[in-house]
Amino acid sequence: MVILKKASDIEEYIYQKRNSGRKIGFVPTMGALHAGHISLVQRCKADDMMSVCSIFLNPTQFNDKSDLAKYPVSTDKDIELLLNAGCEVLFLPDADEVYPGGSELATTYDFGYLETLLEGASRPGHFKGVGQVVARLLSIVQPHTLYLGQKDYQQCLIITRLTQLTGMDQMKVVICPTIREADGLAMSSRNRRLTETQRTRAGILYQCLVSIQAKTEGGDFAVVRKECEELMQAKGIAPEYVALADARDLNPLENYNKTIPMVALIAARVGEIRLIDNILINT
Ligand code: AMP
Repeated sequence: MVILKKASDIEEYIYQKRNSGRKIGFVPTMGALHAGHISLVQRCKADDMMSVCSIFLNPTQFNDKSDLAKYPVSTDKDIELLLNAGCEVLFLPDADEVYPGGSELATTYDFGYLETLLEGASRPGHFKGVGQVVARLLSIVQPHTLYLGQKDYQQCLIITRLTQLTGMDQMKVVICPTIREADGLAMSSRNRRLTETQRTRAGILYQCLVSIQAKTEGGDFAVVRKECEELMQAKGIAPEYVALADARDLNPLENYNKTIPMVALIAARVGEIRLIDNILINT
């Protein structure tokens, strides 16, 4: 695996590979890698792409600076995991490479209502930061295909919109399934910060999503949502939202609508750790 830290070096490296006929697949991450991230690299390789992964803990997408300070960092372990997965190129930039001249100067994008609801409402400015960093990384790597995890469903829609706003809509966006622990908990870098008890209790998020999905037939979503909130609260977990939306554009739904693809989404705090997850319905 080639590890490059300078934007100009990776641009040059990829330029050569692209010219020699390789297709470029890109997996952007913030590090603290787990099997979820690795599944994206594996999908990229299965698609016969040159796999390019980036690790950059982007400060501009953290509205809560203590969340950034406590975000797990394990670069040596990450490199080992990527090597074992057969990743070909790792981009490991400093902030100066991503934001030459400072992040305040990086372009921001308007995602309209999509950045105002759910994660956008709970984390003001978060998607502006995501847009900044992903736009910059895409302009450096210029992949043929971008690999994202369904785990961050709203982010997938935001980034797809970003490719349109930046005129990069010829780039293919592949959304890969959420990789889960044995009890269903979605893998997340933040899970490392859970205590053993919190970790055991956190499995309830997925159980709630499955129960929302199971009640599509004849269920009343307001009732199901209340049940989910109570189940989480009984385990000392504070729900932030339990929502149902149109899977195509995240327009909120009051109740199940079997005629369209839907997504159920949950955000909740387990102690001070904020977890999110979602499940597709009817897709
Ligand atoms: P992050 O490092 O959290 O920014 O995530 C980098 C990429 O990995 C994003 O596209 C995430 O959606 C994806 N990802 C994170 N967790 C999972 C998971 N459990 N399963 C699949 N993809 C994931």
